[in-house]
Amino acid sequence: MKEKEYPRQKPCSGIQFPYFEKIIGEHIPPNRLCNNTLSKVEMHFPNGRVISTRFPMLNFMRDTFDEWLCCLAQSYGAEFRDGCSFKDFEELDDGVIIHLEMNEGAEDIRAKYVVDATGMRPAIRRKLRKSDGFQNGSTGAALNYYFIANGNLESDKLYQFWNIEYNNMMFAWIYNKMLSDGNDYWVIGTGYDRDIYQRLDNFFDHIKEFYHLRNVKIVKKEGYSSSMSFTDEERIWLGERNFLMVGDAAGLIDLTRGVGMDAAALSGRLAAKAIGLFQTSGKPAIEVYSQLMKKLVGQTRKNQRRGILSFKTNEELQAFLDKNMLKMGVNMFVQSLFNRVRSGESQVMLP
Ligand SMILES: Cc1cc2nc3c(=O)[nH]c(=O)nc-3n(C[C@H](O)[C@H](O)[C@H](O)COP(=O)(O)OP(=O)(O)OC[C@H]3O[C@@H](n4cnc5c(N)ncnc54)[C@H](O)[C@@H]3O)c2cc1C
Repeated sequence: MKEKEYPRQKPCSGIQFPYFEKIIGEHIPPNRLCNNTLSKVEMHFPNGRVISTRFPMLNFMRDTFDEWLCCLAQSYGAEFRDGCSFKDFEELDDGVIIHLEMNEGAEDIRAKYVVDATGMRPAIRRKLRKSDGFQNGSTGAALNYYFIANGNLESDKLYQFWNIEYNNMMFAWIYNKMLSDGNDYWVIGTGYDRDIYQRLDNFFDHIKEFYHLRNVKIVKKEGYSSSMSFTDEERIWLGERNFLMVGDAAGLIDLTRGVGMDAAALSGRLAAKAIGLFQTSGKPAIEVYSQLMKKLVGQTRKNQRRGILSFKTNEELQAFLDKNMLKMGVNMFVQSLFNRVRSGESQVMLP
């Protein structure tokens, strides 16, 4: 297990659903979660309709959570290297040598299989020249403002604003989160393929008026620019020969669901299982992994095809929501019931 910087700062909303713990196989300790618990979603549609529903969520900061994950992996026997960067690889007849650049010096590691979990700018995938679905420049950005204010926002809610004036990839969001000083703040954010600051400022103005916010003070801004081409069919790629891609490196982030950590955790787990099965059966891990990943890949591709990026107007978005919301709601209710009895590896990603 190799990490560039630990614990690292990652711009991520840090929201997941209870089945995420089943995929990881452990309960997340309370001290790795935010003070504030999110248990409801309030959805605002382009036509002004508002739906509020109960929906338990996990709410955590990525630095605290990721640090715990690294400790958890070590408790199961993983060897951990901090402060190292993947530089290159050499392929052998029976495996791979990985060249790492360390804070001090360098290290070469020989392995039968290599798992690329380097996220949205996948280092090994790029060296394999299988970076279709990723570009050199930016394909869009996400931006968060953390702020304090008085007003009518409720801290147990995740507010979702479905409106392509504010976000043309998914929904724009507001909710309550803890920062590293241990205090709670509101976070407002959005994603757009252009003019991200303007889009977020317009959204923020709307929110200030809608929830009668007073004494607003922004305490932190964080941004993230993406190189992933969300509509490219080639984006999802699981690897070849002795290289297995997982999480964002495999292109598994899902903008229709608005999340990616569950798919990253499940793909990581299934990649490990495939390598374990290679050791007992001799069957190439990439074949087993592709087989195990069929359901998740199928769901992500289907969602990719009906992504919001393809809509040009709020009318198109509203028509999509009118057609699908009820179906999605029923499906979510049924699948979350089944997820309670499914094993960690068989979890169906929601919503
Ligand atoms: C603004 C924003 C908000 C989001 N909100 C949510 C959310 O609320 N819920 C959710 O589920 N998902 C969310 N996501 C998506 C989620 O962050 C990703 O899908 C998830 O983190 C993918 O996990 P991963 O392990 O594949 O990659 P990452 O979490 O990105 O991990 C990649 C790791 O690889 C390391 N690395 C990179 N290059 C190298 C190298 N050359 N050598 C060594 N190490 C390297 C990095 O330091 C990093 O630790 C959000 C994403 C963004 C951008």
